[in-house]
Amino acid sequence: MKNISVIGSGTMGNGIAHVFAQFDYKVNLIDINQTALDQAIQTITKNLDRQIAKGTLTEDQKSATLTNITTYTSIKEGVQNADLVVEAATENIDLKLKIFKELDELAPEHTILASNTSSISITQIASVTHRGEKVIGMHFMNPVPVMKLVEVIRAYQTSDETTKAVMALSQNLEKTPVEVNDYPGFVANRILMPMINEAIYALYENVAGVYEIDTVMKLGMAHPMGPLQLADFIGLDVCLAILKVLHDGFGNPKYAPCPLLVNMVTAGKKGVKTGEGFYKYTAGTKELVVSDKFKKS
Ligand code: NAD
Repeated sequence: MKNISVIGSGTMGNGIAHVFAQFDYKVNLIDINQTALDQAIQTITKNLDRQIAKGTLTEDQKSATLTNITTYTSIKEGVQNADLVVEAATENIDLKLKIFKELDELAPEHTILASNTSSISITQIASVTHRGEKVIGMHFMNPVPVMKLVEVIRAYQTSDETTKAVMALSQNLEKTPVEVNDYPGFVANRILMPMINEAIYALYENVAGVYEIDTVMKLGMAHPMGPLQLADFIGLDVCLAILKVLHDGFGNPKYAPCPLLVNMVTAGKKGVKTGEGFYKYTAGTKELVVSDKFKKS
Protein backbone atom coordinates (compact mmCIF):
# COMPACT_ATOMS: atom_id res chain seq x y z
CA MET A 1 0.00 0.00 0.00
CA LYS A 2 1.34 3.38 -0.98
CA ASN A 3 -1.57 5.79 -1.45
CA ILE A 4 -3.78 6.53 1.53
CA SER A 5 -6.90 8.72 1.45
CA VAL A 6 -8.14 10.14 4.76
CA ILE A 7 -11.73 11.40 4.87
CA GLY A 8 -12.34 14.16 7.43
CA SER A 9 -9.55 16.50 8.54
CA GLY A 10 -10.70 17.22 12.12
CA THR A 11 -9.02 16.17 15.38
CA MET A 12 -8.44 12.57 14.27
CA GLY A 13 -8.13 13.01 10.50
CA ASN A 14 -5.24 15.45 10.72
CA GLY A 15 -3.39 13.14 13.14
CA ILE A 16 -3.94 10.11 10.90
CA ALA A 17 -2.73 12.05 7.83
CA HIS A 18 0.31 13.28 9.79
CA VAL A 19 1.39 9.77 10.81
CA PHE A 20 0.95 8.17 7.36
CA ALA A 21 2.79 11.08 5.68
CA GLN A 22 5.62 10.93 8.22
CA PHE A 23 6.16 7.26 7.33
CA ASP A 24 6.34 8.19 3.65
CA TYR A 25 2.89 7.22 2.41
CA LYS A 26 1.27 9.58 -0.10
CA VAL A 27 -1.78 11.01 1.64
CA ASN A 28 -4.87 12.58 0.10
CA LEU A 29 -6.61 14.46 2.93
CA ILE A 30 -10.28 15.10 2.11
CA ASP A 31 -12.85 17.29 3.87
CA ILE A 32 -16.03 19.02 2.72
CA ASN A 33 -14.84 22.11 4.52
CA GLN A 34 -11.83 24.03 3.09
CA THR A 35 -11.31 25.82 6.44
CA ALA A 36 -11.01 22.45 8.20
CA LEU A 37 -8.35 21.42 5.64
CA ASP A 38 -6.39 24.66 6.13
CA GLN A 39 -6.56 24.23 9.91
CA ALA A 40 -5.44 20.61 9.60
CA ILE A 41 -2.29 21.61 7.70
CA GLN A 42 -1.58 24.26 10.36
CA THR A 43 -2.05 21.72 13.16
CA ILE A 44 0.15 19.14 11.43
CA THR A 45 2.87 21.79 10.90
CA LYS A 46 2.69 22.79 14.59
CA ASN A 47 2.87 19.16 15.73
CA LEU A 48 5.84 18.46 13.42
CA ASP A 49 7.60 21.52 14.93
CA ARG A 50 6.96 20.07 18.37
CA GLN A 51 8.65 16.81 17.27
CA ILE A 52 11.62 18.81 15.96
CA ALA A 53 11.88 20.67 19.30
CA LYS A 54 11.93 17.29 21.09
CA GLY A 55 14.70 16.10 18.77
CA THR A 56 12.64 13.24 17.28
CA LEU A 57 12.35 14.74 13.77
CA THR A 58 14.57 16.75 11.40
CA GLU A 59 13.64 19.80 9.30
CA ASP A 60 14.07 17.65 6.15
CA GLN A 61 11.66 15.03 7.51
CA LYS A 62 9.17 17.80 8.30
CA SER A 63 9.19 19.13 4.74
CA ALA A 64 9.03 15.59 3.31
CA THR A 65 5.99 14.87 5.52
CA LEU A 66 4.18 18.04 4.41
CA THR A 67 5.03 17.34 0.74
CA ASN A 68 3.40 13.90 1.07
CA ILE A 69 0.01 15.48 1.89
CA THR A 70 -2.40 16.82 -0.77
CA THR A 71 -5.77 18.25 0.22
CA TYR A 72 -9.10 17.79 -1.59
CA THR A 73 -12.70 18.92 -1.04
CA SER A 74 -14.06 16.19 -3.32
CA ILE A 75 -14.15 12.50 -2.36
CA LYS A 76 -14.27 11.54 -6.04
CA GLU A 77 -10.93 13.21 -6.85
CA GLY A 78 -9.33 12.27 -3.55
CA VAL A 79 -9.84 8.48 -3.70
CA GLN A 80 -9.08 7.75 -7.36
CA ASN A 81 -5.67 6.19 -6.65
CA ALA A 82 -6.28 4.99 -3.07
CA ASP A 83 -4.99 1.64 -1.81
CA LEU A 84 -6.58 2.33 1.57
CA VAL A 85 -9.20 4.86 2.68
CA VAL A 86 -9.40 5.75 6.37
CA GLU A 87 -12.68 7.50 7.12
CA ALA A 88 -12.51 9.90 10.11
CA ALA A 89 -15.55 12.08 9.44
CA THR A 90 -18.05 13.23 12.07
CA GLU A 91 -19.47 10.43 14.28
CA ASN A 92 -22.91 10.12 12.70
CA ILE A 93 -24.26 6.84 11.42
CA ASP A 94 -26.25 8.23 8.45
CA LEU A 95 -23.23 10.24 7.33
CA LYS A 96 -20.88 7.23 7.59
CA LEU A 97 -23.27 4.95 5.64
CA LYS A 98 -23.57 7.60 2.92
CA ILE A 99 -19.79 8.05 2.71
CA PHE A 100 -19.15 4.27 2.50
CA LYS A 101 -21.75 3.83 -0.27
CA GLU A 102 -19.97 6.59 -2.18
CA LEU A 103 -16.53 5.13 -1.48
CA ASP A 104 -17.67 1.73 -2.72
CA GLU A 105 -18.63 3.33 -6.05
CA LEU A 106 -15.68 5.71 -6.39
CA ALA A 107 -12.62 3.89 -5.01
CA PRO A 108 -10.74 1.29 -7.10
CA GLU A 109 -11.83 -2.33 -6.68
CA HIS A 110 -8.75 -3.34 -4.67
CA THR A 111 -9.08 -0.50 -2.12
CA ILE A 112 -9.55 -1.40 1.56
CA LEU A 113 -12.13 0.85 3.25
CA ALA A 114 -11.46 1.50 6.95
CA SER A 115 -13.39 3.54 9.51
CA ASN A 116 -11.95 5.26 12.57
CA THR A 117 -15.38 5.27 14.28
CA SER A 118 -15.40 5.05 18.09
CA SER A 119 -18.67 3.20 18.34
CA ILE A 120 -20.60 2.64 15.11
CA SER A 121 -20.97 -0.98 13.96
CA ILE A 122 -18.36 -1.85 11.30
CA THR A 123 -20.62 -4.75 10.25
CA GLN A 124 -23.41 -2.27 9.47
CA ILE A 125 -20.99 -0.01 7.58
CA ALA A 126 -19.67 -3.01 5.59
CA SER A 127 -23.23 -4.07 4.75
CA VAL A 128 -23.89 -0.97 2.60
CA THR A 129 -20.94 -1.80 0.33
CA HIS A 130 -20.36 -4.58 -2.21
CA ARG A 131 -16.96 -5.33 -0.71
CA GLY A 132 -17.74 -6.26 2.90
CA GLU A 133 -14.61 -8.42 3.05
CA LYS A 134 -12.49 -5.29 2.44
CA VAL A 135 -14.17 -3.16 5.14
CA ILE A 136 -12.57 -2.91 8.58
CA GLY A 137 -12.28 -0.68 11.65
CA MET A 138 -9.00 1.14 12.21
CA HIS A 139 -9.50 2.89 15.53
CA PHE A 140 -6.62 5.26 16.25
CA MET A 141 -6.34 6.96 19.63
CA ASN A 142 -6.14 10.70 20.28
CA PRO A 143 -3.55 12.30 19.84
CA VAL A 144 -2.69 10.02 16.92
CA PRO A 145 1.02 10.95 16.52
CA VAL A 146 1.60 10.11 20.21
CA MET A 147 -0.65 7.16 21.06
CA LYS A 148 0.68 3.71 20.15
CA LEU A 149 -2.54 1.70 19.94
CA VAL A 150 -4.60 0.91 16.83
CA GLU A 151 -7.70 -1.14 17.66
CA VAL A 152 -8.25 -3.15 14.45
CA ILE A 153 -11.92 -4.13 14.30
CA ARG A 154 -13.09 -7.06 12.20
CA ALA A 155 -16.62 -6.74 10.92
CA TYR A 156 -18.60 -9.98 10.53
CA GLN A 157 -17.71 -9.77 6.80
CA THR A 158 -13.99 -8.78 7.04
CA SER A 159 -11.56 -11.25 5.45
CA ASP A 160 -8.33 -12.58 7.02
CA GLU A 161 -6.42 -11.01 4.14
CA THR A 162 -7.77 -7.50 4.86
CA THR A 163 -7.12 -7.91 8.59
CA LYS A 164 -3.52 -9.04 7.98
CA ALA A 165 -2.89 -6.12 5.61
CA VAL A 166 -4.19 -3.54 8.11
CA MET A 167 -2.29 -5.12 11.04
CA ALA A 168 0.96 -4.99 9.01
CA LEU A 169 0.29 -1.45 7.86
CA SER A 170 -0.27 -0.28 11.47
CA GLN A 171 3.08 -1.78 12.42
CA ASN A 172 4.73 0.15 9.58
CA LEU A 173 3.50 3.30 11.36
CA GLU A 174 5.29 2.07 14.52
CA LYS A 175 1.93 1.49 16.20
CA THR A 176 0.79 -1.61 18.08
CA PRO A 177 -2.31 -3.04 16.40
CA VAL A 178 -4.70 -5.18 18.42
CA GLU A 179 -7.29 -7.32 16.65
CA VAL A 180 -10.82 -7.31 18.08
CA ASN A 181 -14.27 -8.34 16.86
CA ASP A 182 -17.10 -5.97 16.05
CA TYR A 183 -19.42 -5.75 19.08
CA PRO A 184 -20.72 -2.52 20.66
CA GLY A 185 -17.90 -0.31 21.94
CA PHE A 186 -15.30 -2.82 20.63
CA VAL A 187 -12.81 -3.28 23.53
CA ALA A 188 -11.52 0.24 24.27
CA ASN A 189 -14.85 1.95 24.85
CA ARG A 190 -16.64 -1.10 26.25
CA ILE A 191 -14.25 -0.98 29.18
CA LEU A 192 -13.46 2.74 29.37
CA MET A 193 -17.01 4.14 29.17
CA PRO A 194 -18.54 2.07 32.01
CA MET A 195 -15.60 3.20 34.18
CA ILE A 196 -16.23 6.86 33.31
CA ASN A 197 -20.00 6.38 33.85
CA GLU A 198 -19.34 4.78 37.27
CA ALA A 199 -17.11 7.71 38.25
CA ILE A 200 -19.96 10.08 37.31
CA TYR A 201 -22.41 7.94 39.35
CA ALA A 202 -20.03 8.17 42.35
CA LEU A 203 -20.13 11.97 42.04
CA TYR A 204 -23.94 11.99 41.48
CA GLU A 205 -24.48 9.87 44.61
CA ASN A 206 -22.10 12.11 46.55
CA VAL A 207 -19.73 9.27 47.36
CA ALA A 208 -16.92 11.79 46.79
CA GLY A 209 -16.09 15.03 44.95
CA VAL A 210 -14.51 15.54 41.52
CA TYR A 211 -10.99 16.03 42.89
CA GLU A 212 -11.28 13.04 45.23
CA ILE A 213 -12.60 10.61 42.58
CA ASP A 214 -9.90 11.57 40.08
CA THR A 215 -7.16 11.46 42.73
CA VAL A 216 -8.15 7.93 43.82
CA MET A 217 -7.86 6.69 40.24
CA LYS A 218 -4.66 8.63 39.46
CA LEU A 219 -2.67 7.79 42.57
CA GLY A 220 -4.36 4.51 43.47
CA MET A 221 -4.51 2.91 40.02
CA ALA A 222 -1.63 4.78 38.36
CA HIS A 223 -3.92 6.24 35.69
CA PRO A 224 -2.24 9.27 34.09
CA MET A 225 -5.55 11.16 34.26
CA GLY A 226 -8.66 10.68 36.42
CA PRO A 227 -11.85 9.40 34.71
CA LEU A 228 -13.72 12.72 35.11
CA GLN A 229 -10.86 14.72 33.57
CA LEU A 230 -10.60 12.14 30.78
CA ALA A 231 -14.36 12.45 30.15
CA ASP A 232 -13.92 16.24 29.81
CA PHE A 233 -11.13 15.64 27.28
CA ILE A 234 -13.09 13.14 25.21
CA GLY A 235 -16.20 15.37 25.31
CA LEU A 236 -19.17 14.57 27.54
CA ASP A 237 -21.46 14.47 24.49
CA VAL A 238 -19.19 11.84 22.92
CA CYS A 239 -19.20 9.79 26.16
CA LEU A 240 -23.00 9.96 26.27
CA ALA A 241 -23.31 8.90 22.63
CA ILE A 242 -21.02 5.89 23.17
CA LEU A 243 -22.87 4.83 26.34
CA LYS A 244 -26.12 4.94 24.35
CA VAL A 245 -24.56 2.64 21.73
CA LEU A 246 -23.55 0.18 24.49
CA HIS A 247 -26.96 0.44 26.17
CA ASP A 248 -28.89 -0.07 22.90
CA GLY A 249 -26.49 -2.71 21.58
CA PHE A 250 -26.50 -4.99 24.63
CA GLY A 251 -29.91 -4.04 26.08
CA ASN A 252 -28.28 -4.24 29.51
CA PRO A 253 -29.21 -1.59 32.14
CA LYS A 254 -25.65 -1.60 33.47
CA TYR A 255 -24.72 0.69 30.55
CA ALA A 256 -27.49 3.28 31.26
CA PRO A 257 -25.87 6.72 31.18
CA CYS A 258 -25.83 8.49 34.56
CA PRO A 259 -28.58 11.18 34.74
CA LEU A 260 -25.92 13.72 35.77
CA LEU A 261 -24.06 13.11 32.48
CA VAL A 262 -27.31 13.54 30.54
CA ASN A 263 -28.04 16.82 32.37
CA MET A 264 -24.55 18.21 31.78
CA VAL A 265 -24.72 17.50 28.04
CA THR A 266 -28.23 19.02 27.84
CA ALA A 267 -26.95 22.12 29.66
CA GLY A 268 -24.10 22.46 27.11
CA LYS A 269 -21.33 21.60 29.62
CA LYS A 270 -19.44 19.18 27.39
CA GLY A 271 -15.93 19.43 28.84
CA VAL A 272 -12.79 21.02 27.34
CA LYS A 273 -14.48 21.89 24.00
CA THR A 274 -17.09 24.12 25.72
CA GLY A 275 -14.76 25.48 28.43
CA GLU A 276 -16.47 23.58 31.26
CA GLY A 277 -17.39 20.07 32.34
CA PHE A 278 -16.32 18.58 35.66
CA TYR A 279 -13.49 21.14 35.52
CA LYS A 280 -13.30 24.72 34.23
CA TYR A 281 -11.02 25.42 31.27
CA THR A 282 -11.35 29.19 30.97
CA ALA A 283 -7.64 29.53 31.78
CA GLY A 284 -6.54 26.63 29.51
CA THR A 285 -6.01 22.98 30.35
CA LYS A 286 -2.70 23.12 32.25
CA GLU A 287 -4.14 23.77 35.70
CA LEU A 288 -7.07 21.69 36.94
CA VAL A 289 -9.84 23.84 38.42
CA VAL A 290 -12.99 22.03 39.59
CA SER A 291 -16.17 23.56 38.11
CA ASP A 292 -18.08 25.86 40.51
CA LYS A 293 -21.02 23.47 40.28
CA PHE A 294 -18.99 20.73 41.98
CA LYS A 295 -16.94 22.92 44.37
CA LYS A 296 -17.29 21.88 47.97
CA SER A 297 -18.64 24.61 50.25
P1 NAD B 1 -14.09 16.27 14.17
O1 NAD B 1 -15.44 16.86 14.36
O2 NAD B 1 -12.91 16.93 14.81
O3 NAD B 1 -13.78 16.15 12.59
C1 NAD B 1 -14.70 15.63 11.67
C2 NAD B 1 -14.39 16.23 10.30
O4 NAD B 1 -15.18 15.53 9.34
C3 NAD B 1 -14.75 17.73 10.18
O5 NAD B 1 -13.62 18.46 9.74
C4 NAD B 1 -15.87 17.73 9.11
O6 NAD B 1 -15.84 18.87 8.27
C5 NAD B 1 -15.55 16.45 8.33
N1 NAD B 1 -16.66 15.93 7.55
C6 NAD B 1 -17.97 15.86 7.88
N2 NAD B 1 -18.67 15.31 6.87
C7 NAD B 1 -17.79 15.01 5.89
C8 NAD B 1 -17.91 14.43 4.59
N3 NAD B 1 -19.07 14.07 4.09
N4 NAD B 1 -16.79 14.28 3.85
C9 NAD B 1 -15.58 14.68 4.34
N5 NAD B 1 -15.41 15.23 5.55
C10 NAD B 1 -16.50 15.41 6.31
O7 NAD B 1 -14.22 14.75 14.64
P2 NAD B 1 -13.09 13.78 15.24
O8 NAD B 1 -13.04 13.94 16.72
O9 NAD B 1 -11.84 13.92 14.42
O10 NAD B 1 -13.76 12.35 14.99
C11 NAD B 1 -13.72 11.73 13.72
C12 NAD B 1 -13.98 10.24 13.89
O11 NAD B 1 -12.97 9.69 14.75
C13 NAD B 1 -15.33 9.90 14.55
O12 NAD B 1 -15.84 8.75 13.95
C14 NAD B 1 -14.94 9.65 16.01
O13 NAD B 1 -15.83 8.77 16.67
C15 NAD B 1 -13.58 9.00 15.84
N6 NAD B 1 -12.68 9.08 17.01
C16 NAD B 1 -12.54 10.25 17.69
C17 NAD B 1 -11.64 10.31 18.78
C18 NAD B 1 -11.43 11.60 19.53
O14 NAD B 1 -10.81 11.56 20.61
N7 NAD B 1 -11.87 12.75 19.03
C19 NAD B 1 -10.88 9.18 19.12
C20 NAD B 1 -11.03 8.01 18.38
C21 NAD B 1 -11.94 7.97 17.31
